[in-house]
Amino acid sequence: MGYKMNVMFASLKGKRIYSILNNKCPVCHEGEFYEVRNPYDLKNFSKNYERCSVCNHKFEMETGFFYGAMYVSYALSVAFSVSIFVAIGVLFPQSPYYVYLIAILTGIVVLMPVTYRLSRLVWMNFFYHYEPQKTAAK
Ligand SMILES: [Zn+2]
Repeated sequence: MGYKMNVMFASLKGKRIYSILNNKCPVCHEGEFYEVRNPYDLKNFSKNYERCSVCNHKFEMETGFFYGAMYVSYALSVAFSVSIFVAIGVLFPQSPYYVYLIAILTGIVVLMPVTYRLSRLVWMNFFYHYEPQKTAAK
């Protein structure tokens, strides 16, 4: 599965979505951002490298830089909630309101590691874009 995913993502290299979905440095799209690839490795999922191992880009460009990722995280949670709401509405239209409530809350909690990781990658990609020449100039 890992191999297939890499092939699938290869065509996206150079686009921001590649860095976001594939845990890559926003500048060179080569080095990893998070130390582990599994968001459900709950002990380590939030650990990110300080600098890119390939282009030496400093991920947290200034102290508190990643606080802004909270806005992204909020937006993602809203998007997930709406998706869950719509999915239940379509699949189980007779559900009482508390089913929606429990499903959405459960969904947000279960997806928290994913939300956390995506939000930082998205946030970084607001400020940086792909510069492949930086890979060479190490
Ligand atoms: Zn890099």
